[in-house]
Amino acid sequence: MLNNKVALVTGASRGIGRAIATRLAKEGAMVVINYNGSMDKANEAKAEIESFGGKACIMQWNIADFDACKENIEKIVAEYGSLDILVNNAGVTRDGLLLKMTEADYDAVLDTNLKGTFNCIKFASRQMLKQKAGRIVNISSVSGILGNAGQTNYSASKAGVIGLTKAAARELASRGITVNAIAPGFIETDMTNVLSENVKAGAVAQIPLGAFGKTEDIAAAAAFLVSDEAKYITGQVLCVDGGMAM
Ligand code: NAP
Repeated sequence: MLNNKVALVTGASRGIGRAIATRLAKEGAMVVINYNGSMDKANEAKAEIESFGGKACIMQWNIADFDACKENIEKIVAEYGSLDILVNNAGVTRDGLLLKMTEADYDAVLDTNLKGTFNCIKFASRQMLKQKAGRIVNISSVSGILGNAGQTNYSASKAGVIGLTKAAARELASRGITVNAIAPGFIETDMTNVLSENVKAGAVAQIPLGAFGKTEDIAAAAAFLVSDEAKYITGQVLCVDGGMAM
């Protein structure tokens, strides 16, 4: 159980982040729901958690903004007294073939997915180092392991998240902080709803278990990695992908 733990989940207004926030709240954590643009969705996520007696608050900021990460993570510690769990989930795609990909599309994806993850780890780990305890889970992707045509920016960002996870795991291990990554395959969310039926069918054909995953499948893996039961696991990448990347 996560009673008395404070958890920050980035990008928790929708999709996988929302499912993780809900699951951690069900386990007893006080969850900070970070979002960037979808205020209504963030409010819905908070209301859902409160509907079963869970504890949550909402904080808007762009995780690609270094100063905003510092300011808001310091606010969380000041307000709630600790920060025990960080789930770096917020992410974006700007797909396009290499020759057509703009610099802006490359930068936007790297800035959010990779630099945003660094920003949050940097400021959250300051507090976790003081506490001599902490759990960090970074959401990568099978796209960062296998590579995916049309996603040079996204695959680079998600492969970067894996390297960042392992380096941070080595730096923080001696202070009781674990850092792991989850690499989801195709999961039913707004991010994959935009794919054409053709692309979706092509994706399913590559999944040994034969279907897209659910957001709850990722939430279950995150709940395990932040639990006491995962205390001897760090620097790992857990693929939750129906067998796609094996
Ligand atoms: P989604 O439905 O598009 O939701 C993305 C979430 O990230 C939203 O809550 C969004 O908030 C937030 N976000 C985006 N940019 C942000 C920023 N700069 N600052 C703060 N929050 C930001 O995506 P999803 O499918 O749930 O994906 C969640 C994570 O899983 C991502 O890292 C994604 O790359 C990864 N993933 C997804 C899949 C999949 O198949 N769905 C597969 C592998 C990996 P607002 O709406 O408020 O802007």
